Amino acid sequence: MDPLYAALEQYYGYSSFLPFQEEIVRDILRKKDVLAVLATGGGKSLCYQLPALVTGGLAVVVSPLISLMKDQVDALVTQGVPAATLNSSLPYDAMVRTLADLEAGRLRLLYVSPERVVQPRFLATLREAGVTLVAVDEAHCISEWGHQFRPEYRQLSVLKENFPDVPMIALTATAIPEVRQDIVRQLNLADPAVYVGSFNRENLQYAVAGKKDAYPQLIDYLRSNPDRSGIIYFSSKKRTEEIAERLRDDGIRALPYHADLPDNYRHRVQEQFIRDEIDVVCATNAFGMGIDKPDVRFVIHYDMPRSLEAYAQETGRAGRDGEASDCILFYSPGDRRKNLIALENDCLDRPDLYSLTVRKLNDMIAFCETVRCRREHLLRYFGETFTGVPCGACDICLVPGEFIDGREIAEKIVTCIAGLPGTFGVTHIADLLAGSKNSKILARGHQNLPSYNSGREYSSDQWSSFIRQLIATGYLDQSSGRYPVVTVNERSRAILSGDENVRLASPKESRARGGMKDRD
Ligand code: ADP
Ligand code: ZN
Repeated sequence: MDPLYAALEQYYGYSSFLPFQEEIVRDILRKKDVLAVLATGGGKSLCYQLPALVTGGLAVVVSPLISLMKDQVDALVTQGVPAATLNSSLPYDAMVRTLADLEAGRLRLLYVSPERVVQPRFLATLREAGVTLVAVDEAHCISEWGHQFRPEYRQLSVLKENFPDVPMIALTATAIPEVRQDIVRQLNLADPAVYVGSFNRENLQYAVAGKKDAYPQLIDYLRSNPDRSGIIYFSSKKRTEEIAERLRDDGIRALPYHADLPDNYRHRVQEQFIRDEIDVVCATNAFGMGIDKPDVRFVIHYDMPRSLEAYAQETGRAGRDGEASDCILFYSPGDRRKNLIALENDCLDRPDLYSLTVRKLNDMIAFCETVRCRREHLLRYFGETFTGVPCGACDICLVPGEFIDGREIAEKIVTCIAGLPGTFGVTHIADLLAGSKNSKILARGHQNLPSYNSGREYSSDQWSSFIRQLIATGYLDQSSGRYPVVTVNERSRAILSGDENVRLASPKESRARGGMKDRD
């Protein structure tokens, strides 16, 4: 029997590999550097654990979270693998024991924090210990393009200098090209083999629901799924506590989780969730990394995340056991404004990051406003072509909304934008079409433009929705920046020729579309 398969069976009890695992492990055994971009649940840990097990060498694993390291090490030790972690939370005698094990060559896997692994004395110890593989987990933390930048990851460039002949593997679930390039460059990976797995999570069902009446919709959902547990994400710490309390009053076993709660409280929430003693965690995005609960049946976003990376990662925590699970997002068109203001504050000392984060926000909104398959949209964002539309597991494919022939509407919008003396945002254009008499229109004399009031059959809000749908489907462009403006492009010109078959969600349907319906 192939020793690789024998080890797979012996240590893990599996008889086959998940996609790319085998290729990655064989590359590492050939001392090749690897960049592995695999979705959450894709089986990344095995990629660096197995090589250490079959060669009897020592793999050093850099990991950002103490809890994450602890869980992995506990699991390995249970399987009889000599594994250990070194981090600041360790008692002195445990640390001494681990260092002794390390020096005596007794360890196969050593998990360390990025801060520790770059200390010169520790690097010297590692060189002595004969490292055979360096693995950098959650490698997107090295990149400012990602959504979880950790400055201490930047120092990891010293790893390659210290271990020039040791293969290095970087692992992440973040697929955008900029992040990939950053990882390769910052870690100095030598001509790495790059593996990008599919990000399609077939067992996840996606839905976007209107934010109006979010709470009643939420409670409805929870009541009709009484035996399921899941995570509800909020953007505000305060709201996690408020809604958790309200849910408890309504008989749901829910607890809050955010960064300002005491360590021991957070730890307890996590444990209770994993042991099914509570059903719902109302959390900020501080919750999740390293929570290994395979049967999370739903992830609900009470507030929209700020990027599709964050959305994919957070929803990715649902259904890791492969069973059908729900991802529901509450969205209101007003979210854009709220987020822009918050982003502006966050970027005060990093103005260079502002336009990038706004672009990501716009991409997130386009996902909420799309009238096509959400799965296809999400995968396309991550550079993957999905050919299975209708996917059968998103709100749009399941309950196709009512569509109208949007040719005439699109034509009015494009004509209006093309005839504007300058560039303007969605709301202004919508106001113009609807014939609003607001001060911004009057101050500019826009009530005298030919397009003014040409769309009086719809309200300003409805026009805004149409314009956003055209942006989402690429018929119009929208700039990033504090005041994004809408402009025409090649595809908008095609609209004027009347050949494009533009479909638009019918106005009453365009915001919320029964995403909370039961699967059957
Ligand atoms: P990731 O770190 O990419 O999110 P994990 O390493 O936690 O993924 O693995 C996800 C799940 O897949 C785990 O429950 C793991 O035991 C399982 N798994 C990993 N490799 C295999 C395999 N070859 N066959 C079956 N299950 C696997
Ligand atoms: Zn779909």
